[in-house]
Amino acid sequence: MGFDVIVVGAGLWGSACARHLSAMGARVALVGPAEPQDAAAHNGVFASHYDEARITRRLDNSRDWALFADAAMRRYAEIETLGGQKFFHKVGALMAGPESGVGSNYMRDTAAVAQAESIAHDALRGAALQERFPFFDFPDGILGLFEKEGGWINPRAHVAAEIGAGVANGVTLVQDEVVEVEDIGNGVTVRCAGGETLQADKVVVAGGAFSKAPGLLPDPVPLQVYARTIAFVEIDAAEAERLKDMPSVVYFYPDGAGDCYVLPPVLYPDGKTYLKIGGDPTDVELSTVSEMKEWFRGDGDPKAADYMVAQLFKLMPNLASQGVSHNSCVTSFTPRSTPLIYGQSERVYAVTGGNGAGAKCADEIGRLGALKVLGKPLPENRYQTDFLL
Ligand SMILES: Cc1cc2nc3c(=O)[nH]c(=O)nc-3n(C[C@H](O)[C@H](O)[C@H](O)COP(=O)(O)OP(=O)(O)OC[C@H]3O[C@@H](n4cnc5c(N)ncnc54)[C@H](O)[C@@H]3O)c2cc1C
Repeated sequence: MGFDVIVVGAGLWGSACARHLSAMGARVALVGPAEPQDAAAHNGVFASHYDEARITRRLDNSRDWALFADAAMRRYAEIETLGGQKFFHKVGALMAGPESGVGSNYMRDTAAVAQAESIAHDALRGAALQERFPFFDFPDGILGLFEKEGGWINPRAHVAAEIGAGVANGVTLVQDEVVEVEDIGNGVTVRCAGGETLQADKVVVAGGAFSKAPGLLPDPVPLQVYARTIAFVEIDAAEAERLKDMPSVVYFYPDGAGDCYVLPPVLYPDGKTYLKIGGDPTDVELSTVSEMKEWFRGDGDPKAADYMVAQLFKLMPNLASQGVSHNSCVTSFTPRSTPLIYGQSERVYAVTGGNGAGAKCADEIGRLGALKVLGKPLPENRYQTDFLL
């Protein structure tokens, strides 16, 4: 059977794009493998959403990213219902950092975007910040912008909800890896690792960092892919209870030496509860697909994990840890730090470039990708970016 559109990549953006395409009336195939059971032994592609929690918030120093998130977050409840999967946990999101001096740009710009776009939040300082969030020990001079409507999403459940809703609407799911996309002039042919060949009028490549893989897009997609380590601090039931009102946090260190993000207690599939911290001290670029796969097979950089855990204990000196572990992931950055949604030919489109921020707004990016592929106008005057290189 021929399709109108084949979406390559059943991840956060691809699954959303497929759902929106089908809702817009297209006959859609969504092609992508399930998460590998044994990452260390896996030779195929990986994804940046293999985890239980991603921060979601409108507060951002970039107006466009704030608006992408806002549009997506407004649809969370609807997607959960359509897809039969709960993924959003409204525990609030706190952006914190120095209010003046070194490293204060982010907070200043975020406050300005929040004001211009009427993003509901509380601004907290000093004793008020301490009282509201007694488990954090911020130094003097820190401003906290708290968005009550933020929190975290489970990215695996988000993907499952988008796929569930898409399939219910007629999307054909093919759980395989695509090895080649060919523009044959009057359509596209998509060849899968398992031997299946699919045909359609158009194709969308939404393979995350693996959109760089040879054979998928006619032109190389300009992504800079960075190795990321995430550290997990296991906590027991009493500590989880003490931290039950903890929000998701993004914290810019007062000395301007970078930032971290911290997820509140989340129950993982191994039955244990963890706090998660990310925010690598250095950027290590992964240039080839082989390097990306090798990185994903490992469990991250122990030195980076030690650094991040030390930062976490500075922020939460009373944290009662039951042990620390770490894992690997990658983030893909674009030349202008905005998502890429563009046609490389009349038939072959790229929808990629999460810039470390693409989980929360996946449904809006997917929708914009669907509009682009179907030749419909993107929302005029809403976003400043043109989604090009
Ligand atoms: C450690 C870490 C923390 C993050 N924290 C946050 C956060 O707190 N908030 C936030 O908003 N964002 C966060 N992000 C970013 C977010 O996870 C990414 O922006 C998001 O996953 C991008 O979605 P994507 O669909 O483009 O890529 P992915 O999620 O990587 O999905 C790509 C999909 O394509 C598939 N694929 C690839 N190649 C092929 C192929 N050849 N054939 C078929 N399928 C293929 C893969 O299997 C995968 O399912 C974080 C990222 C990392 C790494």
